[in-house]
Amino acid sequence: MNTTQLSRPNVQALTPYQSARKLGGNGTIWLNANESPLSPNFQLSGKDLNRYPEPQPQAVVEGYAAYAGVNAENVLVTRGGDEGIELIIRAFCEPAHDAILFCPPTYGMYAVSAETANVTCKTMPLDADFQLNLEAIEAQLDGVKAVFVCSPNNPTGNLLKRSDLIKLLQMTAGKAIVVVDEAYIEFCPEASFANELQNYPNLAIIRTLSKAFALAGLRCGFVLANAELIQILSKVIAPYPIPVPSADIAAQALADTNLTVVKKRVQTTLDNRQWLADQLVALPQVEQVFPSEANYLLFKCQDGEKVFKALWDLGIILRDQNKALNLQDCIRITVGTKEECERVVEAIKQIN
Ligand SMILES: *Cc1c(COP(=O)(O)O)cnc(C)c1O
Repeated sequence: MNTTQLSRPNVQALTPYQSARKLGGNGTIWLNANESPLSPNFQLSGKDLNRYPEPQPQAVVEGYAAYAGVNAENVLVTRGGDEGIELIIRAFCEPAHDAILFCPPTYGMYAVSAETANVTCKTMPLDADFQLNLEAIEAQLDGVKAVFVCSPNNPTGNLLKRSDLIKLLQMTAGKAIVVVDEAYIEFCPEASFANELQNYPNLAIIRTLSKAFALAGLRCGFVLANAELIQILSKVIAPYPIPVPSADIAAQALADTNLTVVKKRVQTTLDNRQWLADQLVALPQVEQVFPSEANYLLFKCQDGEKVFKALWDLGIILRDQNKALNLQDCIRITVGTKEECERVVEAIKQIN
């Protein structure tokens, strides 16, 4: 057997996550990964790298718990939000036996992590308003150990209805974990489910420093859940998941002075998002701009491929959603600086 044949069949069949970075492009304006357009400037406070890091850096755990309004026992620090997704699947889903369920169009990593673990993916599409189809989900729950929902949803930008998520938590009680992916929650903090942890032992919340905190390069995320669930995930996480430099900067990012900076940055993004939405919807090339609660907008064009390619050739790299379920001719754009937004609008105007 050759090396490929030696690898697991599900890995042979795997389509890896198409990260914005892997898709490439020769860009001068990068608005395809929902990153912050500007980098914060932190300095490393220590130099000693000869020792292993703390398995769970205490300053980060406590800083994030205070920020999120939960206790330290409710926090697991992970290597990006993506590691939290993987840990939940690894800890709760038996390969070749159990399933996860998610609701497309949504974030691609739920499927990739499940397929890597040889866990079945069940899908129940969002409805025409990008909301959950609860009855259909309930009918599909056999064998499902984790349901992944994303709110605000990537790539559509909308929040899922709070009452629907509560019903989902209730119908899955004692059967499955409900993972609420709150990667973008800083852009609509009042919608968080963190204050529901005390009511639902099967709730897990994914958070990250990659988006509103402007630290995608740091690779730092969190799972928020009840202590019992956190303890289970702690058993399967790598022994030293958070590098010393990442923990150092993450702790600084969670200090009160920086939280004020994050809030201001969020407000600027919301202002730019409003401006960008108003401009886009007025363009003849654009058919619809979907409402967003996050740092990106989904918009539908007469000819999405044409707009995406024309911008790509100009070095403006957006995220094509044409192949995502029910998103024909749609493009996702990260809200950049005001200047970046202006340049994108000008560029689209020139496409005929
Ligand atoms: C960006 C993102 C994440 C996590 O990203 P990390 O960089 O791994 O923290 C998780 N879920 C969604 C929906 C995202 O968009």
